[in-house]
Amino acid sequence: MLPIYIQKTIIELLCNQEKRRYKSRYTSFDYSWAKHYALVSKHFFKITKDLIAFHSFIDIGYFKKNNPYKELCLITKESIQNINIQFSLISIELVESLNCDFKSLKSINILYYGDAWLGKSVFLLNHLNKLNSKDTVIVNFDLTINCYLQIYEEKRKEFDLSSIDLSFTFNTHRIDLNYGTERSRAYNFLYTLIKGLNPKSIRFQASSDTTHLRLFHSLSKLNHRFEKITLSNDFIPLYAFYRFLQSPNLTSFKFSIQSHFISDLYEKIQENNSNFNFDEMDNHSFDYESKMLAFYPPACFKNNTNEDEHFYCSFDCSRAYDFRIPIYSLSLWKECLELLKNHKTIKNLDIEHMVCGYQCTFQEKNEKTLNQHMVYDLLDALANNQSIKSLKLWLDIQDSHDFLLSLSQNNKTMRFIKINKNEFSRSNKAQ
Ligand SMILES: [Zn+2]
Repeated sequence: MLPIYIQKTIIELLCNQEKRRYKSRYTSFDYSWAKHYALVSKHFFKITKDLIAFHSFIDIGYFKKNNPYKELCLITKESIQNINIQFSLISIELVESLNCDFKSLKSINILYYGDAWLGKSVFLLNHLNKLNSKDTVIVNFDLTINCYLQIYEEKRKEFDLSSIDLSFTFNTHRIDLNYGTERSRAYNFLYTLIKGLNPKSIRFQASSDTTHLRLFHSLSKLNHRFEKITLSNDFIPLYAFYRFLQSPNLTSFKFSIQSHFISDLYEKIQENNSNFNFDEMDNHSFDYESKMLAFYPPACFKNNTNEDEHFYCSFDCSRAYDFRIPIYSLSLWKECLELLKNHKTIKNLDIEHMVCGYQCTFQEKNEKTLNQHMVYDLLDALANNQSIKSLKLWLDIQDSHDFLLSLSQNNKTMRFIKINKNEFSRSNKAQ
């Protein structure tokens, strides 16, 4: 018989191999891989039981029936450390059960897949304030919301978002948010939710490249706890870029910009007026009552500039487009570059361009590369940054190979750089 620690190492390797197959959404990593190994011997049983308890995420429904032969079970309430709970199942009874029975609990994933009417139920999360082990149990969220129901607008009248008291005392590290195209203002509740949960890491995933969340500027002002921000398949307004960059603990930032907008700032604005106080200019509070999905270029209100609705050119297949530029935007972009240049905490930066919509994409005059001055300014900011280790850009830079060479020669901090299809790493020469 092999020594116990070797048996353990072998099963751990098998477990890790299995886990890599679930790398896309680790909350779904289950226990089926372990069943056969557990039957080999008593030691194998104990080792696999411990590994399942540590690595697997078990749906709370699994524990509905009480099993009288607990000692023969690989998964028990007492041993399991991670559980998945459907949002709709959250209740005071459930929390009491978690407190009494789940003695080893380390993390809870709240799952939701359905209509944006989830918004009406956010108060249920207040029950989780009653968790006994709030200091050690992390509550994370995997939410997928859509606007299937046409009756939303009617129901909305019963529900006053601004009056809900959400003061969460449990700890959330991560929110993973998938969203479909918004109808009416169905997603306003997300502002309340994210504000209340105050996560360290947040991922926004738009269901299609014609879907855009109209909350980013307000969300970017919410907290300074963000460490990791990821936007997939959606763009952020310039002011949100500015605000997110001010998060003092930010280490990983992935997003898209409307590069057509940034490029046009250089071509259409002659003077770089710097008499703006950007830290005060967007002192708006979130507008829960806003019902329309009206896009407009933000006016430069003294204390009330809001880019939640801002877009440039077009971003979807509808015919809506707008080429107006707020008077402060070029200055704001240069402030962003200044923040980027001097940023001390970002390790991973990933910027892509958002492809314009129908009105722009199919007009030949707009099929052009980015303004050269904009590219120089971006290169200057990145070359002088001393914190970024990994950089990926996917932008319409005219000569991305030269950009890469110049950056790799002038910045010695970056270990990995990818500019479109050209890659560089410290141990390799530029290709
Ligand atoms: Zn465009």
